[in-house]
Amino acid sequence: MTELDQAIGDGDHVSNLQRGLQALNAQSEAFGLLDWTAAFQRMGMTIMSSVGGASGSLYGTLFIALSKNLPHQQPTKAEFAEAFFKAVEAVKARGKADKGEKTMLDVLIPVADVLVSDTGAEDLYVRIKRTAELSAESTKDMIATKGRAAFLGERSIGHLDAGAKSSQLMIGAIVDALAQPS
Ligand code: ADP
Ligand code: MG
Repeated sequence: MTELDQAIGDGDHVSNLQRGLQALNAQSEAFGLLDWTAAFQRMGMTIMSSVGGASGSLYGTLFIALSKNLPHQQPTKAEFAEAFFKAVEAVKARGKADKGEKTMLDVLIPVADVLVSDTGAEDLYVRIKRTAELSAESTKDMIATKGRAAFLGERSIGHLDAGAKSSQLMIGAIVDALAQPS
């Protein structure tokens, strides 16, 4: 991801995220004591204040919007899907961006679509992971029109977007954790 952000951005995406992950890790016990809404709210605020760059405000927005759209107690699958969809809408609004602009949204939007159109088939986790992988890969051929990479115009073609890759890895990690037998 550092190499991707070096190629078409400024190379700080991983170090930005690492600061956020450290700040989140330091509070992991506290998160466990909060209800869903409060936990996501605090995660979002932590990301906003610790992660620099565009990704800090965008990932922060994702988690804060999740908190606003989730019930306090454990959500059903459908409630979570709806909340995730709305949270991705909030990221779109925050970044004034949409699908096809070579950003994290090129992974977040298709994954939200898979979640809300879930019919209860057993392979949901596989489909989410596969969608995230293919979507991150699809940013390689796109021309960036948002973020730092947009300055490169057509020269941004040929590299995956770093934020699309970090979204894919985050989603893949969550799916792996959920798919593990508890
Ligand atoms: P910065 O670009 O400020 O250095 P990062 O390197 O941490 O911040 O994050 C860059 C990533 O943020 C990009 O790879 C892209 O996925 C995402 N991004 C940048 N601008 C936008 C935007 N307007 N909407 C959605 N995502 C964006
Ligand atoms: Mg950067």
